[in-house]
Amino acid sequence: MLSKRLDHITPSYTIEISTKVSELKSQGIDIINLSIGEPDFFTPDQAKNKGLQAVKENRTKYDAAAGLKELRNAICNKLLEENNISYELDEIVVSSGAKHSITNTLMALLDPGDEVIIPKPFWVSYSEMVKMIGGVPIYIETKKDNNFKLTSNELKNAISSKTKLLLINNPSNPTGAIYTEEELRSIVNVVLNNDMYILADEIYEKIRYIDKFTSIAALSGEAKEITITINGLSKSAAMTGWRVGYSASSKKIAKAISTIQGHLVSHPSTISQWAAYGALTLCQDDMAQMVDVYTKRRDKAVSLLSEIDDISFINPQGAFYIFLDVSPFKDKFSYKDSYSVEFCKRFLEDYNVAIVPGIAFGIDDYVRIVYCADIDDVEEGIRRLKEFIKSL
Ligand code: PMP
Ligand code: GLU
Repeated sequence: MLSKRLDHITPSYTIEISTKVSELKSQGIDIINLSIGEPDFFTPDQAKNKGLQAVKENRTKYDAAAGLKELRNAICNKLLEENNISYELDEIVVSSGAKHSITNTLMALLDPGDEVIIPKPFWVSYSEMVKMIGGVPIYIETKKDNNFKLTSNELKNAISSKTKLLLINNPSNPTGAIYTEEELRSIVNVVLNNDMYILADEIYEKIRYIDKFTSIAALSGEAKEITITINGLSKSAAMTGWRVGYSASSKKIAKAISTIQGHLVSHPSTISQWAAYGALTLCQDDMAQMVDVYTKRRDKAVSLLSEIDDISFINPQGAFYIFLDVSPFKDKFSYKDSYSVEFCKRFLEDYNVAIVPGIAFGIDDYVRIVYCADIDDVEEGIRRLKEFIKSL
């Protein structure tokens, strides 16, 4: 008998689809994979070299639960210089990917039945993480007209006596939208008046196509106190497989996260942590070059998608996703549970292109494509999408 905790948990769509693509590819089937949010770049050499050096120098022993001091120092410097937030060493915990930082934070904050507010569309794992930890996800339907960004009024209406936390992903996966400072200030004011926390998932913060980005914790001392900032190296430094993410929070929360982590996994791999140290201290130029490439790809993808009749989307300001409204074709499909799953299934089977159904992000009228893949694949994938839609 499995734990009841798993009764309402769906496996990760993004991970499942990309595993399926790998299987199909290994059978010799040529699939264009525009499903997974994984940079097609390799980890920059200087980051890899720091990892290799750690192996050679036998820095392979247990270390502090919260993460290597050198790495936490580098994270403090990054947060101060780039995000204008001053953190101390014992306010940072390094974990095995941003995913792990988020689950650790949820474990540190939630009691069974506590409510976590999640604006829709949301990144696929938020809802399931909250449920696994015994929390209750409360979804807010945001408006397309507002680029699916949460407003302070929408937030106010969703708060109850059980609300513990608001999850904000900025820049957003799947829409690419970025909140302005004013929008964040009005959201934070509501949170401050309601004795709750904000988990600010800023993992895509460096991948953006507008100059200004405001970290929630940078808004004020009070905002910093109630915010747990999540970030990592997976996306910005193309280090998905190394599994390094981190949280920055008040000392009290950081201590709780570190205690949980100490018992569950001790700490993330020291080799990966040294590589992450290399990325943060030596690879700024490599990261900026990747963003230049994403910018060109975004422009190309947006221009090609604009030529397809009847689909609409939000022009992404950050991350590497485009969330496409495919609702006009709904009556062309017969499906039992999910339109977007059926749409993506037929597109994969008939046109060999993998994309992610909107249902994974809580909105079934949409599908998500990525442009962190080779530009030829992005162009060909969009050309086939145009053909598919024309055929309907
Ligand atoms: N947050 C968001 C919004 C993401 O898209 C992802 C994707 N991986 C993560 C967190 C987790 O990142 P990591 O690979 O560092 O666990
Ligand atoms: N976050 C990425 C995505 O949304 C990677 C897969 C995952 O971790 O869910 O595709």
